Amino acid sequence: MAKHLGDPIAIIGGGVGGLTAALTLQHFGIPVVVFEQADELREVGAGVTITPNAMHALDFLGVGRQIVEAAGVAPRYEVCDAGDGRVLELGPPPEDIPHNYGAQYCNVHRADLQTALVEAVRSNDSGCIRLNHLFDHLEQDDNGVTVHFTKGSSYRFAGVVGCDGGASRVRSVVFSDQDASYTGQTAYRALVPSNAVPPEITANPYRLYVGNGKTLIHYALRNGEMMNLLGVAIQPSWQDEGWSIPATPAEFLDLFADFPEPVRNLISAIPPDTLYKWGLRDRDPLQTWTRGRVTMLGDAAHPFLPFLGQGACVAIEDGVVLGRAVAESADLTQGFYRYEAARKPRANGLQLASRDQARHHQGVAGGRPDPGNTAAARGLFTYNPATVPLATS
Ligand code: FAD
Repeated sequence: MAKHLGDPIAIIGGGVGGLTAALTLQHFGIPVVVFEQADELREVGAGVTITPNAMHALDFLGVGRQIVEAAGVAPRYEVCDAGDGRVLELGPPPEDIPHNYGAQYCNVHRADLQTALVEAVRSNDSGCIRLNHLFDHLEQDDNGVTVHFTKGSSYRFAGVVGCDGGASRVRSVVFSDQDASYTGQTAYRALVPSNAVPPEITANPYRLYVGNGKTLIHYALRNGEMMNLLGVAIQPSWQDEGWSIPATPAEFLDLFADFPEPVRNLISAIPPDTLYKWGLRDRDPLQTWTRGRVTMLGDAAHPFLPFLGQGACVAIEDGVVLGRAVAESADLTQGFYRYEAARKPRANGLQLASRDQARHHQGVAGGRPDPGNTAAARGLFTYNPATVPLATS
């Protein structure tokens, strides 16, 4: 157990990965400070799929039950052909999931996941999340890291974990890496209240449609209170930055005009001024995530395209393995390297697999669009970050 850290560990970024890492380190008695650029902790109105591999982590941290109660258990998913509506593949039956994988499968509102993690982190240390802190740069030496923020404050830590998402400043500063580039894919997202959802969608609430150059997924959140809708379409050019650029249902409908009628009706039911779009960005896998007393996790280390629905799950896995590796190592740098060794093959591999999955879903891999290898088919659900072995050194 790393009892000799001295200063706390700085977590840069209070997203799902950073909060999971903070909670795991606290679980092992290691103090942390979380620095978040935003002036309040808020999540975008959207859903996130938590598959059993990530639910194992949330169970280990004591927040799994709260998530399952807020979300409800996910029904069996169906992958459908957008051309003729045929069901091409079925997910595992929900009643088999706990038996086969030892944990539940849920579709969660992102705000509910964030609330559960924030409450747990603050109940361990009420003042450890510092908002309004935009990380700027750092310097490290043999004994620690000095972290500087844009408004002029600086603090000293035993180590730093960069959890600042796909446009990570920690990654740019420490690894001099190029910026993420537009992938040629634009995503549209919305939430539709249950009373406005067409009955054909309510009857088959969890579907992924694969189509020529387009994919669309819908699933219920908060025990059926609302329907989450996410469409992704190949679009050659993109100008704007940000996750929440307003879009119109007419624009969304126009792009998905060849999709089945129930889907078009769902798009038409999106309440006014609640549809947003953004350009999907990507980076090539990085061969090293750690430099001395600084490491990274989640999208900062391996930004994911959304086609396997595993970006948040893998960030959660990272957080738990990182906390375990630090706690079980003789010193911090050894802990960071053991974390990276345990996680890099899976996370970097899935980063590339997510790209490949897009080509299958959108028919770019040759032939008709197809389900590709879903997360379930790839065996991803059997991984348990709370018990996976760590290399000895
Ligand atoms: P983030 O959640 O992006 O958090 C980063 C945090 O760092 C933010 O709070 C940000 O404000 C903060 N920050 C940034 N820069 C700084 C700075 N300089 N200083 C301080 N703070 C900073 N994953 C799934 O598992 N299942 C899904 O179903 C799923 N669906 C998705 C659908 C779409 C359309 C997309 C785009 C992604 C989806 N994902 C999904 C992926 C998932 O959302 C991300 O992989 C996940 O949020 C990554 O978590 P993170 O903590 O690494 O980064």
